[in-house]
Amino acid sequence: MRGTVLYGPRDIRFEERPDPVIEQPTDAILRLAVTCVCGSDLWPYRGNPPVTEPTPMGHEYCGVVEEVGRDVKTIKLGQFVVGSFATSDNTCVICRHGYQSGCVNREFMLRAQAPLLRVPNADGTLVPTPDKPSDDLLPSLLAASDVLGTGWFAADAANVQPGGTVVVVGDGAVGLLGVLSAKQMRAERIIAMSRHDKRQQLAREFGATDIVSERGDEGMARIKGMTDGIGADSVLECVGTEESMKQAVGSARRGGYVSFVGVPHGVELDGQEMFFSQVHLHGGPAPVRHFLPKLIDLIFERKIDPGKVFDLMLPLEDVAQGYRAMDERRAIKTLLRP
Ligand SMILES: [Zn+2]
Repeated sequence: MRGTVLYGPRDIRFEERPDPVIEQPTDAILRLAVTCVCGSDLWPYRGNPPVTEPTPMGHEYCGVVEEVGRDVKTIKLGQFVVGSFATSDNTCVICRHGYQSGCVNREFMLRAQAPLLRVPNADGTLVPTPDKPSDDLLPSLLAASDVLGTGWFAADAANVQPGGTVVVVGDGAVGLLGVLSAKQMRAERIIAMSRHDKRQQLAREFGATDIVSERGDEGMARIKGMTDGIGADSVLECVGTEESMKQAVGSARRGGYVSFVGVPHGVELDGQEMFFSQVHLHGGPAPVRHFLPKLIDLIFERKIDPGKVFDLMLPLEDVAQGYRAMDERRAIKTLLRP
């Protein structure tokens, strides 16, 4: 097969790779229906951190089970399944508390920007769909694999409640789906922080009631102005920079909740500021596996359409173009068809 490999800054190649094989008896091999480029892929793509050797890319996937190891019990050949970026046994104490992305047997996925994929811990990682999905559901199921699961976790970890006021920092796919998730959790007011016309429009489609385009101190002042000087009940930080994190903490009310799901890069927080903010902080790699059954149901019932975040569809072999479009912010998210 051919797969996607990152060689260095902005050097993505689609090249001959070995077909994956069953390595552990708990593995499955999937034939992917669709895959995509993640916002987090842009960090190594831009050289932060630099890759030290050619690195196979991709961690979002859904497709059909083509082969299973001898210890795989519940996942069956021919099933359509959705997985996520962290594999899990779904049985250890961490998993049972709903933190499958912190499983004691976790492996982080790579190599998903390819037609075939080996998934470790298949039984605890993959979730079958109720039926074979129609083509129009594929983008949404693929979104569930990471960006929707992460946006949902962001809303859940920020304790979004019916009637509450929510601020979403970041207008990438995760931030936009954080808006969708907050809407599903019946927040009354959802303020999306975005400076891009197209993304503001999608945020509104997903349920944002207000848009704030200012950032930093001005952004925080706007939020305070909109909330009687108090700040928001729930703030979702979906970027991962120091500026966005400070903006998130500074937009929450005392006693409010801040979730952070953007992989932090160079974030240092001031102890005094954190102390006097009195916020609940909760974040990390989203336990997508925990939310997948519910998200798949919502998608199959056509109650949500998270696949709208894909505004560029390309054949997998054009993956380098997909990275470039996202790097230059011409695309929110690129879907790739093997
Ligand atoms: Zn576990």
